[in-house]
Amino acid sequence: MTHPFPQELQSALQAVRQAAIACRSVQSSITTESLAKKDKSPVTVADFASQAIICRQLQLDFPNDPVIGEEGAAELRLPSGQQFLAQVVRECAAAGVEATTLQVCDWIDRGGASKYSPRFWTLDPIDGTKGFLRKEQYAISLALIVNGQIEIGVLGCPNMPFEGQPEECGVLAWAVRGHGAWMQPLSQPDFSSVPISVSKVSKTAEMRFCESVESGHSSHDWSGLIATELRISLEPVRMDSQCKYLAVARGDADLYLRLPTRKGYQEKIWDHAGGILVVQEAGGHVTDINGKAPDFTHGSSLAVNEGMVVTNSNAHEAIVSAIRKHSPHSDETAPQHS
Ligand code: AMP
Ligand code: MG
Repeated sequence: MTHPFPQELQSALQAVRQAAIACRSVQSSITTESLAKKDKSPVTVADFASQAIICRQLQLDFPNDPVIGEEGAAELRLPSGQQFLAQVVRECAAAGVEATTLQVCDWIDRGGASKYSPRFWTLDPIDGTKGFLRKEQYAISLALIVNGQIEIGVLGCPNMPFEGQPEECGVLAWAVRGHGAWMQPLSQPDFSSVPISVSKVSKTAEMRFCESVESGHSSHDWSGLIATELRISLEPVRMDSQCKYLAVARGDADLYLRLPTRKGYQEKIWDHAGGILVVQEAGGHVTDINGKAPDFTHGSSLAVNEGMVVTNSNAHEAIVSAIRKHSPHSDETAPQHS
């Protein structure tokens, strides 16, 4: 594949693969007991290790590129964070990255940019933390944004199936703007990459939609009204993380709805950038719920967008209209929802 960002792509794929090793190792150590105690420490350790591993690679290869990432190392630098930090260092080492505690903190803090710049990366080291804790779906999402355009999008999806491979072999999906979307089994870098494309389903009534498991992240009441309006009869696929973008990109689902649960919530760029390019390059279409293109020129938030609508490109406008018609945030329909 000839494109303008070969080193960036290679670096991003390598970084996400390595971060996935740490995430898998931590996820496999989660026990029912730790979950019963509502112990979130596994996901925090994995989050920090994943961000450290990816930012280390970006630091080595592109030392001038800022990274807008989800985590910062402030807590880890405190005396109270030392035990935690030691665990993060151990997980990095197990994934092949030997480092001192200070190096790990510095790498994590490299991901602390928040302002827009003409060229930057955005990173969600573990998207879908609730899915991670439930041992379900989560994703590692990394994207390169140049002049406000996503040029590279990478999704590491350690628990997504890859046809013909053992269950839970995981998927590494990526896209380069103008050069298509691809995937391969996550832990098999030598496996030839497979092009991915969205489904061809064109009638809304036949569409399968996906949405967050968490009704606090996307309104299930609202999507239910839209499904009725569009005569969608298939049950929604509820899944955590940007694995939903992968699901639409490769035709497992035809539509992904992210419907704000309250007016004013600003989506984070790292929850979308990687997934958006993968869907667009697979032939899909992505706008916010008002039909506006996602705007990556406002720092860490999609400050001028609301929610997200991700389709296989078919019936996109009809879907946006149905969303608007049933909006709980507009004056017309406000009393229907709490
Ligand atoms: P999901 O796995 O699709 O439920 O999305 C996970 C992401 O939801 C997290 O990475 C958070 O950044 C994001 N999030 C947290 N609170 C909200 C909210 N109120 N509305 C939308 N997204 C949210
Ligand atoms: Mg996230």
